[in-house]
Amino acid sequence: MMFMKISRKFKRIKVRIKTPIAKTGNGAVPGGKINNLLVLDNREEGKSYLVKGLRGLLNHSMMAIAKEQGIEICHSSDKEVTQSGEKLLPKGFHPNGSCYPENECIRHRIMGSIQKPSRIKFEPVIITSKAEKKWNGKGHKMHIATETRNSLVYGSKKSIQDFGERYFSGEFTVIIELLDELTQEEIGFLLKAILYMPEIGLGGSINNGSGKIELLEILLQDVERSRTIGKNGKIIEEEKERNLWKQMEEALAC
Ligand SMILES: [Zn+2]
Repeated sequence: MMFMKISRKFKRIKVRIKTPIAKTGNGAVPGGKINNLLVLDNREEGKSYLVKGLRGLLNHSMMAIAKEQGIEICHSSDKEVTQSGEKLLPKGFHPNGSCYPENECIRHRIMGSIQKPSRIKFEPVIITSKAEKKWNGKGHKMHIATETRNSLVYGSKKSIQDFGERYFSGEFTVIIELLDELTQEEIGFLLKAILYMPEIGLGGSINNGSGKIELLEILLQDVERSRTIGKNGKIIEEEKERNLWKQMEEALAC
């Protein structure tokens, strides 16, 4: 029996990142409940965790470089004032999505809003502990631990509350898929925002030394992924990738 191959061509950006310590969970959870990063916990594969906050980090980087370059883009908020009437929007930004469709800014063209879907997609970044023996090899092995903290009543040893925060350290790769053909200018803006990410930091507790990231490598790639059904219904998946050095250089020059 012969089956057709199903295939798709697309571009992607691969970013290799290193962090000495990052906390991307939903903050501290009281009562010692520290599973807020957990995505999988089973007998066969052990535990794995999701690295959150990457899209938000890219959004913040975009806002920072747009401000530096003096171009107006969408703010992450779609409101101009808070409920109590305080001005929410800093100079140089418009409410998220308000530029669409007449004067669509570069950030909206890439990231979209509720008005229009995004043209890039983040692959989930799944990590597992280096100590995990059952892991099947998909995902990144990192140091994952829990910092237990307690707040004490000032001037005494009496504890107000105990809580644990999950943190991780090591290397991981972020894959951003381009869902359609982006212009050189758009790819350039995306790459520059990625280059700016270490200035912002990942996750929480940044002012306490968490969330430092170091960019190790950025690749722009052409990918062809194909899939077919082999013997006994087994799926055979193939991925061919090619680095686009020249296009990356040209995009960065935009
Ligand atoms: Zn906009």
